[in-house]
Amino acid sequence: KNEKGDRMLYVVGHKNPDTDSICSAIVLAHFLDAYPARQGDLNPETEFVLRKFGVMEPELITSAEGKEIILVDHSKKSQSLDDLEKGKLVGVIDHHKIGTTTSEPILYYAKPVGSTATVIAELYFKNAMDLIGGKNKELTPDLAGLLLSAIISDTVLFKSPTTTDLDKEMAKKLAEIANMGDIDAFGMEILKAKSVVGKMKPEEIITMDYKDFEFNGKKVGIGQVEVIDVSEVEDKKEEIYKLLEEKLKNEGYDLIVFLITDIMKEGSEALVVGNKEIFEKAFGV
Ligand code: MG
Ligand code: MG
Repeated sequence: KNEKGDRMLYVVGHKNPDTDSICSAIVLAHFLDAYPARQGDLNPETEFVLRKFGVMEPELITSAEGKEIILVDHSKKSQSLDDLEKGKLVGVIDHHKIGTTTSEPILYYAKPVGSTATVIAELYFKNAMDLIGGKNKELTPDLAGLLLSAIISDTVLFKSPTTTDLDKEMAKKLAEIANMGDIDAFGMEILKAKSVVGKMKPEEIITMDYKDFEFNGKKVGIGQVEVIDVSEVEDKKEEIYKLLEEKLKNEGYDLIVFLITDIMKEGSEALVVGNKEIFEKAFGV
């Protein structure tokens, strides 16, 4: 509690935040009367979305101390606040596989859909926010716009294999509230905002969407950059590869896979450093 006696309840997404992590935190905090937070700088796409709907960026937090925490869009410790155990984890709202265990019971609500925003939107449209401790209050057009943007971003305009019918249904309903008539046109605007990689430095491109994983005690890094046209990164590929090799050595990775994904052609090129054999075996290339 702060000096006013309010609950210090924070909603926060994962490190290297993406649009789903930021927008889901903002909207869920609205329904829970909590503080929205972020664990890092906004990427250009998220900046574009917040500017478009005139919503302020959430507060940057680096510590859980003295806070009650609700995680959105992740539950893995490696993607969360480093000192999470110093605060009180009270809930997770997510669309990934379960990534944590807790010593006490917590609120845990996840669905295998394309985005966390989809999960939140469904709770709203079913008038079921109370099921996760929230209030059934209004979803304003700006907040509906944020959820719509997050769905579009995470599903790459419904092209990603993680896309479900629920994502499309929620996007349609959200677009009505947000007064976004043409979802496809708005979607292309978002994807283009993401696609500023042509102007970015290789080291920025690598960290834009990058996560650490542990598989059987092996440290694996997976990064991805999505482009509308592969030519945007063609001349930077060599330097990206060199930086990945350095990262592998300096940070003790077993394997790093970096994907350059062409969202229009719906395919990826993988830059692989470290234990390449395992990747070759898995993909037969
Ligand atoms: Mg995410
Ligand atoms: Mg997500």
